[in-house]
Amino acid sequence: MDFTSDNAAGVSQPIFNAMMATNQGASPAYGADPFTAKAVALLSAIFETDVAVFLVATGTAANALALGALCPPWGAVFCHETAHVMEDECGAPEMFTGGAKLIGVKGRAGKIAAKDLAAALKAFPRGLVKQVQPAALSLSQATECGAVYSCAELAELSAIAHAAGLGVHMDGARFANALTTLDCAPAEMSWKAGIDVLSFGATKNGALACEAVLVFDPAKAHTLPFQRKRSGHTVSKGRFLGAQMAAYLEDGHWLVNARTANEHAARLAAGLARAPGARLPWPRQANEVFAFLPGKTDAALRAAGVRYYDWTMRDFGEQRAEDEVFVRLVTSFATSASDVEKLIALAGG
Ligand SMILES: *Cc1c(COP(=O)(O)O)cnc(C)c1O
Repeated sequence: MDFTSDNAAGVSQPIFNAMMATNQGASPAYGADPFTAKAVALLSAIFETDVAVFLVATGTAANALALGALCPPWGAVFCHETAHVMEDECGAPEMFTGGAKLIGVKGRAGKIAAKDLAAALKAFPRGLVKQVQPAALSLSQATECGAVYSCAELAELSAIAHAAGLGVHMDGARFANALTTLDCAPAEMSWKAGIDVLSFGATKNGALACEAVLVFDPAKAHTLPFQRKRSGHTVSKGRFLGAQMAAYLEDGHWLVNARTANEHAARLAAGLARAPGARLPWPRQANEVFAFLPGKTDAALRAAGVRYYDWTMRDFGEQRAEDEVFVRLVTSFATSASDVEKLIALAGG
């Protein structure tokens, strides 16, 4: 019973099948292949605009390249203080930008509030030579706490950033999970809400290793071919990235997977909310459930072989009681419904 992360899952079968089918004969290297061309065409159709697409194998590479395209070495990237770019990428954004500074903004459930972004920007006036220059805003959708920005919230934050001369990046490692929650068009949750560059995740939602950097204004993408190659992320047998992304998108496979993951999480959240002594700090919105569990519930789950992570307590405006543990449970397209039921039963929900 594994609820550690959505990347603990394997590869979803249609994507694996597509990679097998791609494994025939020769094909042009470095992304000049028909599978990559198909992925690009699908992404442009799904996002209802011509996007510049850069496929890479990890989300860290996608984020770092995206920020590298938006931010000079003397720039500042504003992001949530617990953002993946801030805490989980070993300084890759700093390296790929040539030394830009990341500025953490506080906010509940991993979300940045408009007034807090405005205040953070005010503290970094442009043109003041002693300070790094605001260059980018990075928003995680869904957030590292499994929360989802509404399209209106994204548009408001982007407008503040654009007015201050910043580019806007979205870390969409869980883009599909957030999208199915909002039930809106991909364009509405991205470029129509002011997102300039998107890290579009596929790995956590069924691919083997594939993410796309999408640049919505192709004129702003001219440095990325060089940045990707220079950083060692231009995959020579690129057709296997193209095949993954195309299979991910075809026939709405990505949305089916995300809906499945979200439904498991919804079931889990409802079950835990009923469990004696358990409580959720904020509503479940995508495929991650955060919960305070009584110590004895936690012990019973672990003794029964349920795996999940203890989560770091933050300045969430929540207090942990003496006998409580704070945990994160993540579901995926591959989660078993019976595992969810077993977990809920073990917790007494
Ligand atoms: C998983 C994740 C990534 C990508 O991580 P990699 O391990 O580099 O693929 C990026 N952002 C968020 C919010 C994530 O959860």
